[in-house]
Amino acid sequence: MTDCLFCKMVSGEIKPDTVYEDDEVLAFRDINPQAPTHVLVVPKQHVATINDLDAGTAGVVGRMLLAAAEVARQEGFSEQGYRTVMNCNEHGGQTVFHIHLHLLGGRIMGWPPG
Ligand code: 5GP
Ligand code: ZN
Repeated sequence: MTDCLFCKMVSGEIKPDTVYEDDEVLAFRDINPQAPTHVLVVPKQHVATINDLDAGTAGVVGRMLLAAAEVARQEGFSEQGYRTVMNCNEHGGQTVFHIHLHLLGGRIMGWPPG
């Protein structure tokens, strides 16, 4: 997807502040952090929304969670805990249409989310 912001990060056209990378996912710091640590974990393959996952692509979501847990360890808050979020479409608050897992850590999170 040539006009997708996160695909441009995966391809290296735009250089994010990368904290983790493997063959299937890339993780980088959110430009507008909502917690002391706010990282986005994205699949290298373009999938627009959770609704577009299928049996062939759904496995990458597990890899995204594994990456989030690894970044939480790196950042030093895996035992205190953290929040992971995936927003879908308008009511979910999705603004970038390449699926991503938000990893938020370093403070106590509220519930329910807004
Ligand atoms: P969504 O609202 O789709 O769940 O999350 C999109 C996230 O992407 C937001 O938290 C927003 O701050 C982040 N974001 C938008 N543009 C950029 C960018 O150019 N670089 C980085 N690192 N994050 C971005
Ligand atoms: Zn994309």
